[in-house]
Parts: sequence; structure tokens; C-alpha cells
Amino acid sequence: MHVRTLTGGLAAACLISLAMAGGHAAAAPHVASVPAAAARVLTYDAGGSAEFRSAVDRGAAIWNESVDAVELRPAAAGQRANIRVLADDGWPRALPTTLGSGTVYIGRQAVDQGYDTVRISAHELGHILGLPDRKPGPCSSLMSGSSAGTSCTNRYPNSAEKAEVEGNFGGALVGRAPAPHRGVIVD
Ligand SMILES: [Zn+2]
Repeated sequence: MHVRTLTGGLAAACLISLAMAGGHAAAAPHVASVPAAAARVLTYDAGGSAEFRSAVDRGAAIWNESVDAVELRPAAAGQRANIRVLADDGWPRALPTTLGSGTVYIGRQAVDQGYDTVRISAHELGHILGLPDRKPGPCSSLMSGSSAGTSCTNRYPNSAEKAEVEGNFGGALVGRAPAPHRGVIVD
């Protein structure tokens, strides 16, 4: 009885091994021919961002370079954008509505103090992508925002911030994407 059970177990293990080997052999060419899951496209309208327009475009491009799950694309003329980017004289802030949409203000108050306009843009877009502030924090963190000081010109999210956005928009995790922060996120 004991021996029989052991034999059965070995047979099962062999079957699993064969199945895995077969599955792997069959899957390899299949995986190579199928593109990765398409990125979720979010449109943004930087038409109201005045002198910061190129900084906003750069901030969006940085996210496109940094993550695969989401792509920020300028809205076509007349198209209602997911994200509106405006310039004003206040402090930079984001007003997320749902994950991936909302309004961003590139506030001149911080720019006048010497903060980097592209870092501000990428940071505020980070809020729209579901990231909270991480303050105080080092310059290597995009979401440390102004706490890293005016000398900080790092415009890129760190690996944890990238992973969080991938998780927020990733196909496998899409059902449990965290709710974005509601209301105004200042800076
Ligand atoms: Zn912030």
C-alpha cells in the first residue's frame, strides 16, 4: 500500500513534468508571436499649460519611457482628454477624478522658487496615474516632490514608483487597482 502510493506519486510527478515540458515547447513560439498586452492610452490636453507646454510633453514622455502599462498621448483637436493640464499662479497640484483622469495645475509659485518644470509635470502626472506623495523623500523619488529641494532635477520615477503604476494599470491587477486620491493633491 505504501509502495503503491509512492509509485502513484512518482507517476503523477512524471506526468506533470511532461506536461510542463510540452507546454513550454508549445508556448515558446506562441509567446514570441503575440505582442505584450496593449498599454492603456490616456489622452492629455496641454493646451492650457501656457509656457509649460513643452515641460508637460516631456513629463508625459518620461512616463511613456518608464512604464509599459499606460501611455500618455496628446489629445487630438476637439477630443475630450482624460487629463487637462493648466498653468496658473498657485502651487502645483493635481485633482484626480478617477484613476488616469483629472486636472493638473503647473503652478508658477513653485517654478518661480526654482523648482524644475519637467519634474513638476512628471510628478503631477504621477498623481493622475494613482501615486501618492512620498514626503519627505530623496531626489531619486519623483513623488518626493518639493521635499527634495529646488536643486533636485530628477524627472524620473524610481523603480518602486514605476512598479506601482504598472500595477495600477496592469492587466492582471486591473481589478484591484487602488482608488486614486480624491480632491486636491497640492504639490
Ligand atoms: Zn504631489
